[in-house]
Amino acid sequence: MKLDVNVLRYLSKEDFRVLTAVEMGMRNHEIVPAELITRIASLKHGGTYKVMKNLLKHKLLHHDSSKYDGFRLTYLGYDFLAIKTLVNRGIFTSVGRQIGVGKESDIFEVANEDGTIFAMKLHRLGRTSFRAVKSKRDYLKHRSSFNWLYLSRLAALKEYAFMKALQEHGFPVPNAVECNRHCVIMSLVQGYPLVQVKQLQNPDTVFEKIIGVIVRLAEHGLIHCDFNEFNIMIDDDETITVIDFPQMVSVSHTNAQMYFDRDVECIFKFFRKRFNITYEENLGDSDGPDSVSDVSDRLKFSSITKVSGFLDKELAASGFTKKDQADIEKFNEGDDETEDEQHCLNTISEEAVDLSSLTLKDEQGVLTSGEQYEVEATEESTEATQGNGDEDN
Ligand code: ADP
Ligand code: MG
Repeated sequence: MKLDVNVLRYLSKEDFRVLTAVEMGMRNHEIVPAELITRIASLKHGGTYKVMKNLLKHKLLHHDSSKYDGFRLTYLGYDFLAIKTLVNRGIFTSVGRQIGVGKESDIFEVANEDGTIFAMKLHRLGRTSFRAVKSKRDYLKHRSSFNWLYLSRLAALKEYAFMKALQEHGFPVPNAVECNRHCVIMSLVQGYPLVQVKQLQNPDTVFEKIIGVIVRLAEHGLIHCDFNEFNIMIDDDETITVIDFPQMVSVSHTNAQMYFDRDVECIFKFFRKRFNITYEENLGDSDGPDSVSDVSDRLKFSSITKVSGFLDKELAASGFTKKDQADIEKFNEGDDETEDEQHCLNTISEEAVDLSSLTLKDEQGVLTSGEQYEVEATEESTEATQGNGDEDN
């Protein structure tokens, strides 16, 4: 597919400087005092207020004067910091159409100079249920000042690290290209989510491939935890690709067996309903009535998982620490959403982010708008606030 980039637009250096200042301020302020932003940004010619007004107009910042005059980043503001950094790194040059709306993410197509298209996943933890995040602040009290930033960044880092490791071990996952803040760039998977597929030429083969992935994951010490028809992509040749990794756990997790069984159950249920595949045909069970727990027994979680350690060793080396894993698991726990909620693909966000309609100011100060845009790389890096999470508080 071709990306139709019709308008070139930029945020000015000052805009990014102030945006970055707000991000830095959010390390220890939920709402960053305006004067602190001015101090951090220390624009050569002043005028922070004017820049903030401009950023506010474009919904990159949110103004809050309930306690004092202050600002915080919106998801869109955070998006632009990540996008700018990735563009500066030469990962891509343009952003195209939105290809997915997940429960807590937005997925866009992006393209590099050669015209290669990638998928850009922007994590949006906490957007569907603000209250859920709020109650989780107890777990993450020390980070309450910027929970959603922190959690979304953690989710992205985890997704990236797992994708990379899984890829190296030959699993059918997208190619992990790059990660910044709450944003993961990966190869674009051809095909469709399995949920959209009404017919398969070889449902048995596909079913076995999928079950094979669950088993092999467990052999490597991992459980996907959201292994279902929404997170399995399939192409015209019926090749599968597994996506969506922020909730994965180790087989040594206290609830590992339950998560494993649930993943297995999801697949069996879907194939039975959609393709009329029964357990006997595929697993040759002859004793007694079928039930999912029978099947799980036959998948022998306990013996599968004897060989383990992959998660701890390799992922620790990737920059995703045990502490990160613990934090994100705390967030994921208590996420007892209903199937409807889980499968709601048209979530309306609290802070709706529409990248396509955004108007940016280019360097000449001309305001333009359009469906796609290009972001110009500048020498000035916006990576000052990157860090790896642990130094933030
Ligand atoms: P969420 O965590 O919000 O469920 P997913 O990673 O499952 O997000 O992505 C949501 C949707 O976006 C998927 O169902 C799929 O349609 C699309 N998508 C995600 N990643 C890719 C990719 N690498 N290539 C193509 N489409 C993708
Ligand atoms: Mg998903």
